[in-house]
Amino acid sequence: MIQAPKGTFDVLPDDAGRRELLERNARRILQGAGYQRIETPTFEATELFARGVGEATDIVQKEMYTFDDGGGRSLTLRPEGTAPVCRAYIEHGMHKLPQPVKLWYLSSFFRAEAPQRGRYRQFWQVGAEAIGSAAPEVDAELIVLLAELLEAMSVKGTQLSLASLGTPETRAEYRDELTAYLRDHERQLSADVRNRIDMNPMRAFDSSDPSTREVMKGAPKLLDRLSSEDAEHFAQVRLLLDDAGIAYDLDPTLVRGLDYYTRTVFEFSSDALGAQSGVGGGGRYDRLMELLDGPPTPGCGWAAGIERILLSAGELPVQADVVDLFVALAGADLGRTGFSLAGDARRAGLNAQLELAGRSLRGQLKHADRIRARYVAIVGEEGTSLKNMESGDQLELSPNEVIPTILRGSRLS
Ligand code: AMP
Repeated sequence: MIQAPKGTFDVLPDDAGRRELLERNARRILQGAGYQRIETPTFEATELFARGVGEATDIVQKEMYTFDDGGGRSLTLRPEGTAPVCRAYIEHGMHKLPQPVKLWYLSSFFRAEAPQRGRYRQFWQVGAEAIGSAAPEVDAELIVLLAELLEAMSVKGTQLSLASLGTPETRAEYRDELTAYLRDHERQLSADVRNRIDMNPMRAFDSSDPSTREVMKGAPKLLDRLSSEDAEHFAQVRLLLDDAGIAYDLDPTLVRGLDYYTRTVFEFSSDALGAQSGVGGGGRYDRLMELLDGPPTPGCGWAAGIERILLSAGELPVQADVVDLFVALAGADLGRTGFSLAGDARRAGLNAQLELAGRSLRGQLKHADRIRARYVAIVGEEGTSLKNMESGDQLELSPNEVIPTILRGSRLS
């Protein structure tokens, strides 16, 4: 038997309702705030992610599905959505539009990670990006919108971590300071952290090694080194979140796995999830456009994992599709009459299904009951009888009276 590749999954019809609900909520909340849908290609030039996500990140180092397209070009299945959206912004000259350009997406992404609950190799994210404004209101609004989405999906036990990474200059100075500190304590650090001191010293804060953690308690914190402009921006974001009644924890060690962030970074987690507790996160990326050869343009955004949201969601009001009419066939040669009745019903705006399995009439009525059809039209040699499945009433009708009768019934109910 051929099975789906490790770390991937099928979205079966039983799961589809909850996913549709999530998409509807995302559309309502994000489009309501002026975000417009964008979809970018599933694969991009590898260079986009190497530059845009950062050579030193785990994603680029070891998690990308990269392949040669046969013509000597290196392509990569998208591991995240921000770099592609920024590429599209530059490619389509969106800087000429009123700023900020506010976009949202819901797409699948690919990372060669070790699969476990809540971590897959193909997964789905809903994301929002606001490009072209450095205002702290943008950061705060994006956080509020993600909080609203998680609330609409009844995500349980959420917690918001917030930090600021400052500007690239502050980070460079801080990086030197932190690197020197790590070098001073080199012997107490895990081999993994030690080997990456120069490559990515911030990752030392992520280590689960006890001795490294002890060293990191005394390490200098970036939040204490922010320039006055960055500190002011961050204070403003916090004020707006306080006004909006959004609770958060300041996490001076919040390190997101992507290199492009500047200033605000944030992450929502849920205690309803296991080890993979991150539900969604993002931040400001004021330098990313330049890394991609675009004009200097500030931006801010987030992405949230669809599967993680659904794993941590409570009961959801998922509604089954209504079946207005099931067309049953009372004889062998009535397929054509039934087929055109179902077609007419659909053109009249009804949800109609036709018997397709050659069941006995009894079996057909049972099936109509199972799919909760409101009406069954039993097409016979002599005429059609229409059964109201709720009341049990049955009427003998000529074929052209079936649809008007249901429509009248619809209007009455
Ligand atoms: P990131 O792009 O790494 O900031 O991830 C944003 C969100 O996407 C996370 O908070 C998760 O909810 C989700 N996510 C990231 N990687 C995976 C994965 N491998 N499998 C499932 N969800 C993921």
